[in-house]
Amino acid sequence: MSMGGPHSEPIVRAVDVCKSFGAFQALEGITVDIPAGEVLCVIGPSGSGKSTFLRCINQLETVTAGALWVGGELVGYRRVGNKLYALSESEIARQRRKTGMVFQRLNLFPHMTALENVTEGPLRVQRRARDQVIAEAQALLARVGLAHKSDAFPIELSGGQQQRVAIARALAMRPQLMLFDEPTSALDPELVGEVLSVMRDLAASGMTMVVVTHELGFARDVSSRVIFMDQGRIVETGSPGQILLQPRHPRTREFISAVR
Ligand code: ADP
Ligand code: MG
Repeated sequence: MSMGGPHSEPIVRAVDVCKSFGAFQALEGITVDIPAGEVLCVIGPSGSGKSTFLRCINQLETVTAGALWVGGELVGYRRVGNKLYALSESEIARQRRKTGMVFQRLNLFPHMTALENVTEGPLRVQRRARDQVIAEAQALLARVGLAHKSDAFPIELSGGQQQRVAIARALAMRPQLMLFDEPTSALDPELVGEVLSVMRDLAASGMTMVVVTHELGFARDVSSRVIFMDQGRIVETGSPGQILLQPRHPRTREFISAVR
């Protein structure tokens, strides 16, 4: 497939992506391009395949049909002539590092301070120079409003603070793309805003983001495009205004009015 010039190449290209678990099809024919700088929100009912789609992008799952490119590279395979060869584990690990992911569940390393959580990947995986990694991690913690918590352990932080450290930790790997899978769903309502505000700043900085969320206000204010998924398919794609205010498909309409 032609990928166009360097400036037109999307950060993510999914072409007819399918994922099945045994006989069950979790994703069916997902086709979407995500250009650099886009903030794409993915909404849809529980079980519609939102997490599976993110997990395919991040190679936590392997696609069963169709093709996926991240950062211009075919995910999971190398093409030699007209044959595809599965990538080795180390090559897959290298590809996965293009993507940072923040999960619904709080998943910081519990035995490490906030700062150590942020420096762990760059030091151990990327083997970057220690002084520089620490300085960058402190700057990232400041960016998420947690400069004063760098020596705190996760258990000493609120859920919102833990998610903000998780965002800093993902950014420390200098990803091309950030994936968020319902990052505020496990939080007490009063802590949601501080995490969304960090995500807003990240979006304004030009980061390419795919955000699975039920926060329709965030989708409306921050996203460039919204995808509604149901039963493993993309039912409707449009601007936030169109999807949230004038959904065309009855299933989208039903979902929006139920969430709101
Ligand atoms: P969502 O994030 O939209 O709630 P998921 O992507 O988690 O949905 O799941 C989509 C469907 O795929 C669900 O029916 C779920 O049960 C199924 N599924 C997800 N992961 C697995 C798995 N590892 N094995 C079997 N079924 C799975
Ligand atoms: Mg999910």
